Amino acid sequence: MTVETQTFVTPNDIVGVCLRCTCGAKVSIPFRAKGKRVNMSCPSCDQHWFQGEHDERFMALNGCITRLIELQNLKTTFDLGITLELSSEAKKAIARAASRDSGDVA
Ligand SMILES: [Zn+2]
Repeated sequence: MTVETQTFVTPNDIVGVCLRCTCGAKVSIPFRAKGKRVNMSCPSCDQHWFQGEHDERFMALNGCITRLIELQNLKTTFDLGITLELSSEAKKAIARAASRDSGDVA
C-alpha cells in the first residue's frame, strides 16, 4: 500500500514573490503593495538581474506576477476552485519546516 499526501496551494495563498540574489540578499515583492516593482538590480551588491524592461526574464516574471494577481481576483467573478500542486521537494521542505517549528526532531 502506498500512502501519498497531496499538497495544493490556491492562488490566494500566495502573498508575493521573493527574489534571492547570489550574494544572499532577498527582495520581497508583496502583491498587496500596489506600485511595487521588480528591481532591475540587487539593492545590496548592485548585480544587474535584468537587462532592462524588455529582458525576457523580466517580462516573464512580471507576467507571472500579473497572472497570479488576476487569478486571485477571479474568485470574485468566477467561482472555480483553482489550486497549484507542489513538487515533492517543496512538500518535503514544508514538512521539515513544520517539524522544526513544532520542535519535533526529524
Ligand atoms: Zn546581491
